[in-house]
Amino acid sequence: MLGSQQIYQTLFKRSLIFTFMGLPTCVRLAHTENEVRVRFAPSPTGFLHLGGLRTALYNFLFAKSKGGTFILRIEDTDQTRLVEGAMEQLQEDLEWAGIIPDESPLKGGKFGPYQQSKRLDLYKTAVEQLIQNGAAYHCFCTEHRLELLRKDALRRRQTPRYDNRCRHLSKEEVEDKLKSGGQQCVRLKLVPGCETYHDLVYGNITHDVVACEGDPVIFKSDGFPTYHLANVVDDHYMRITHVMRGVEWQSSTPKHLMLYKGLGWEPPEFAHLPLLMNADGTKLSKRQGDITVKHYRSDDVLPQALVNFVTFSGGGFHRDNSDQVRSLSTDQLAAEFDLGLVGVASCRVSLERLDDFNKAELARQMANETEMAALVKQFRSKVAETYKDQLELDLNEDYVRSVMQWSLQRITRLGQLAGPNFSYLWVRPPVTNISEQQAEWVSAVYEHLQATDDFTQKPLSDSLRVVAKQSKVKVMEVMHLMRMILCGRKEGPAVGEMLEMLGRETSLNRIQATLNSHQQSNTEKTSSQSAVVLQSMNLLML
Ligand code: GLU
Repeated sequence: MLGSQQIYQTLFKRSLIFTFMGLPTCVRLAHTENEVRVRFAPSPTGFLHLGGLRTALYNFLFAKSKGGTFILRIEDTDQTRLVEGAMEQLQEDLEWAGIIPDESPLKGGKFGPYQQSKRLDLYKTAVEQLIQNGAAYHCFCTEHRLELLRKDALRRRQTPRYDNRCRHLSKEEVEDKLKSGGQQCVRLKLVPGCETYHDLVYGNITHDVVACEGDPVIFKSDGFPTYHLANVVDDHYMRITHVMRGVEWQSSTPKHLMLYKGLGWEPPEFAHLPLLMNADGTKLSKRQGDITVKHYRSDDVLPQALVNFVTFSGGGFHRDNSDQVRSLSTDQLAAEFDLGLVGVASCRVSLERLDDFNKAELARQMANETEMAALVKQFRSKVAETYKDQLELDLNEDYVRSVMQWSLQRITRLGQLAGPNFSYLWVRPPVTNISEQQAEWVSAVYEHLQATDDFTQKPLSDSLRVVAKQSKVKVMEVMHLMRMILCGRKEGPAVGEMLEMLGRETSLNRIQATLNSHQQSNTEKTSSQSAVVLQSMNLLML
């Protein structure tokens, strides 16, 4: 970990400083080995969602494809918006998705701390340097004055902006005000005459900030920097070579470039990623359902499925067939990722396609013995947890495996297989009540099944048809009742298929349980009838 002092020493040892009109204009940090260093810099103000995941993933893939370093930095300088636990959850979610930082708050690294609230000294030094260089100034305007400015602008139907009043205070006025100890912040002097910069995705960008806003606050009265300053200072000291972030930050970049200039630092390259939108072109938001990684995790989406889905939606890959559902490993994705292929159009996300990706990933994992073993292990504990203390819980490993393979055509997420629609695969359903007449042919079914050598779908359904014919019952009725007996539901897979899946022993047990219960209720009925008869006889004898 480097303290600000050390960083400055290193900086001055390695740098070349050119001066222009008294300002240092360019300090180049010699990036040892010309290494690519990128970062994901979320603010811990909520859960990681699809948009953030895409930014993190693309930075990660870019670093991987260049043999570079991926950094996670937590930008927590806006203390009013912090959400408790969000930082920990962000790190967990990234790890779950396989996006593992090389340097992070948890992992540490040479350029830490990786949490902005722990780097306040660095920002303070930078802001002093900016003031000294004439690139920033103290502002003493009160909240009340700013509010009046805002109201006035709104009345005139203009966008509120600071009028840069304190920019024009004399040195003496500033000193006096500082001495009297009033509230103050520091603002960046926006430089007129917009410069063009090159965005690796959007091409040449010219954005006239001066025409749009007043001088922005870079250091607040609470001793914390704002996003702009902290972001630039950290990107510099963490030796970030490429800033890749959402396009919503594009309008901040000219301000950042002014900060780099004011501090005499060389800026990194910039690449802004187009917005992710809903399929109908509206902003991707919670209205379209929960789009947080936390939600997908709890909804049994596999990490690699979500990652592939994000790359499918976000651009950056050659796609022969725009509809292609793929299940690539992170290494494969990194090898294919090409920043030059990220387009400028907003990326439409078809959330309903996520199921296809999950299914493809499930199939891929099941075809790989090591991954399948892990999946089986995980799934068995899930079923055990769901159905603990229930009757006849069957978790034989071979059985679980065959059910999982069988389910591939029926489910998109493994969790569904542990859910109520498939509970009959794991535990005995409630016993079905049957009539006397049904009991006769159900016994016949039992005998036929017992005698069937080939316990597979086709011969099993043939057996049921034979019983229906012999007992003069409609095939439909037989199938319907047998389905109820076997799975306790009116709907489900074909009965033959269900029998094959459950296997001979479980199927016969369930039929037997139905027949036993029927017999028992008959016995109870008879004995209660006899009791009534005996009672009436007793009455007669009195
Ligand atoms: N803290 C910003 C965010 O929450 C980071 C933007 C950037 O990457 O520069 O997204």
